[in-house]
Amino acid sequence: MKPDSAHQILSDTFGYSAFRGAQQAIVEHVGKGGDALVLMPTGGGKSLCYQIPALMRDGVGIVVSPLIALMQDQVDALKQLGVSAAFLNSSLDADTAREVSRQLMRGELKLLYVAPERLMTEGFLNLLERIRQVGGIGLFAIDEAHCVSQWGHDFRPEYRALTVLHERFPDVPRIALTATADAPTRREIIERLALEQAQQFVSSFDRPNIQYRVALKNNARQQLQTFLETEHPDDAGIVYCLSRKKVEETAAWIKEKGWDALPYHAGLDAAVRNKNQKRFLREEGVIMVATVAFGMGIDKPNVRFVAHLDLPKSMEGYYQETGRAGRDGLPANAWMAYGLGDVVSMRQMLLSGDAPEERKRVELQKLDALLGFCESTACRHQTILRYFGEEHPGDCGQCDNCLTPVDTWNATQAAQMALSCIYRTGQRFGVAHLIDVLLGKATPKVEQFHHQQLSTFGIGKELAQQQWSSVYRQLTAGGFIEVDIEGYGGLRLAEAARPVLRGEQEVWLRRDAEPAKRTSSKAERGSRLREAFAGANEDPLWQALKSKRMELAREQGVPPYVIFHDSTLLEILNQRPQTLDAMGRISGIGQAKLSKYGDAFLQVMEDAANGRWRSQTLKQVNR
Ligand code: ADP
Ligand code: ZN
Repeated sequence: MKPDSAHQILSDTFGYSAFRGAQQAIVEHVGKGGDALVLMPTGGGKSLCYQIPALMRDGVGIVVSPLIALMQDQVDALKQLGVSAAFLNSSLDADTAREVSRQLMRGELKLLYVAPERLMTEGFLNLLERIRQVGGIGLFAIDEAHCVSQWGHDFRPEYRALTVLHERFPDVPRIALTATADAPTRREIIERLALEQAQQFVSSFDRPNIQYRVALKNNARQQLQTFLETEHPDDAGIVYCLSRKKVEETAAWIKEKGWDALPYHAGLDAAVRNKNQKRFLREEGVIMVATVAFGMGIDKPNVRFVAHLDLPKSMEGYYQETGRAGRDGLPANAWMAYGLGDVVSMRQMLLSGDAPEERKRVELQKLDALLGFCESTACRHQTILRYFGEEHPGDCGQCDNCLTPVDTWNATQAAQMALSCIYRTGQRFGVAHLIDVLLGKATPKVEQFHHQQLSTFGIGKELAQQQWSSVYRQLTAGGFIEVDIEGYGGLRLAEAARPVLRGEQEVWLRRDAEPAKRTSSKAERGSRLREAFAGANEDPLWQALKSKRMELAREQGVPPYVIFHDSTLLEILNQRPQTLDAMGRISGIGQAKLSKYGDAFLQVMEDAANGRWRSQTLKQVNR
């Protein structure tokens, strides 16, 4: 192994000038034959950590991955870089699979992606034995290693059997990788994969390029529309909804508003799902409206936003779902609309399910942590990282709470009124009625139940309807109030309400900003994205570069980002290289891509300079 070969491969093959974070240490460690456990957030650059060592070492690198649907794209991307790669999984016909085996035996492959169930067959293990005799095995990479963990939501029983690799091929280095951060999962990976001796590389899980925002829901659709119009008029993104029905309706509505939106949920026919996923990956500017069924292993790098119209179930879910934005490191938005109705319906859903009590308790706790996050006035980046056991100085400048700091107010008296109103009315009414009582409104329902005779009738006139709603939302999110499980949305006092009612505990709540105030800085927020794209969207050259990329991608049946990432294309736009040499210095353009595409993109720029792009490319744009 040459001392500089890791860097050489990084720049010649991948076209990158420097390693990121722990990459270099990992690559050197595994390149020398060491075992490694790599914990890195989504978008951190895990693939290079096994791809470069595989290229440095003799023989073929075997990559175990549960994401069959994505193997094709991963292999396509490697081929674009001039790396001989292939995959083996159940989607291949027998002839193709045999051909891959032959290539392996001839030592023609540097990387092979395999599904775990295929890897564990006796036939494949025997093949590995034979490969060891001929070309050799460079390493085993176990991607998505958290799949060995029973506690994770992606548990794959086949992953448990992967220790066989170590037993049968003890001299082959192994590298396990995951973006799942928590300590129990990490311990289980080490134990289950017998990685006690492996060096651990734990990166920060911060995603500084993601701007987190939680908006108070008043008219979710209108809010989403404003968000899309002002910040993401042409971007690809994901909109998460809780139910299949809402997915369908929202997708239809967004489409009606003029965007290219597609639905995705487990109730759709598999063929439709695949087709929609493919369009999302291969085309530009598609918005996927989906349940959480969508996203596992989606490695489209230029997802510019993730919007939640409903609450995720936990912080883990929120972090994972929002983490699909901005894998390319360019600015991206995580935006969520949240309101009292969400708190009530999520609690009801969890409580009324038929999961065992123990499980429900855990799920409720997880939901509470998420609600705490929604209501928090602290830096979002800091709050998320704390939840995963990592420190962050706060003041990130990239979250709603840092951009528009939120006031808190001493709401002890209001909380007492709100709680005692629940108590006096018999702990069975919903928020709307409770507020009517507090405000002293003699509605038919108030009269029907003689609630105008209660001591709490009309005692809350100092606060407006909106403010009471905010108080109830925060008290519910904070665990002072329970929601009935019969489904009528009635509120009851929780144990935690007692000290408040007895005057033994103060309650501080966030002062919900006027929606207008929060929207006023939107222009400024939108400009962050515009800045990153350097006015690209208005630049005809940008459109010309994009349509050239799309044309090349279509010819080969690969997603556009497999040709060049947005960041690479942006650099071309900003640098305007005039020669192949200059083009080769752009980040993301290695030798293979330079010789494949260098001329084509130089031509695009020359045409642009001559003003010829107008007639040629504009008609292809935005198809
Ligand atoms: P992960 O698997 O950790 O989510 P990827 O391996 O897909 O991340 O990498 C995320 C993105 O970062 C990819 O677009 C990749 O090409 C890019 N990338 C990774 N390492 C580097 C680097 N050293 N320099 C520039 N870009 C990088
Ligand atoms: Zn912040």
